[in-house]
Amino acid sequence: MSTTSSSPAAGSGAPSLHDDVEKVLLSAEEIEQRLTELGAQIAADYAEEPPILVGVLKGAVMVMADLARRIDLRTEMDWMAVSSYGSGTKSSGVVRILKDLGTDITDRHVLIVEDIIDSGLTLSWLLSNLRSRGPRSVEICTLLRKPEAARVEIDVRYVGYDIPNEFVVGYGLDFAETYRNLPYVGVLKRSVYED
Ligand code: 5GP
Repeated sequence: MSTTSSSPAAGSGAPSLHDDVEKVLLSAEEIEQRLTELGAQIAADYAEEPPILVGVLKGAVMVMADLARRIDLRTEMDWMAVSSYGSGTKSSGVVRILKDLGTDITDRHVLIVEDIIDSGLTLSWLLSNLRSRGPRSVEICTLLRKPEAARVEIDVRYVGYDIPNEFVVGYGLDFAETYRNLPYVGVLKRSVYED
């Protein structure tokens, strides 16, 4: 019998990605609502001159896509990819550019779009790198921030949510490159890490 479902696993009894999630920290609806507020605030703040939005790959893809559509301005979008060297899961602040901007940001307003600020070391490096290119301003918008994990003080203009110091996945954030496509932010079951 043929299936009418668009999902390959639907009705097959196959395991779902959602089964690996211990708890949902922020629902898709909560994220959408907060990004709508931030988008309106950004549009008001930059009404005179739109910023160029700089998304940090890969984690910020979802935030960028949903936030940018809520900023009612003639903004541009560009991307950077950086790799942070560290021991295990901890960032060291030593950063290498894997993909640079395709845009000259001299004399431009730049708004960095991030998924999460943990220690802040990667972003701190990125900030000074972008500032050295002569932009008019550089500000930051992050969906998530972990205040308890901060190792450097960074002035963040737009914050979606402050969250506890635990490892989260979803909405762009990965564990071993998977779970980025969860529509919410959640915490994985311990058994997932131990497998
Ligand atoms: P930082 O330099 O602020 O310590 O590291 C930032 C990067 O570490 C983020 O862009 C993200 O890639 C990763 N990271 C930090 N905390 C988490 C987390 O809770 N979950 C996931 N999936 N990645 C995180």
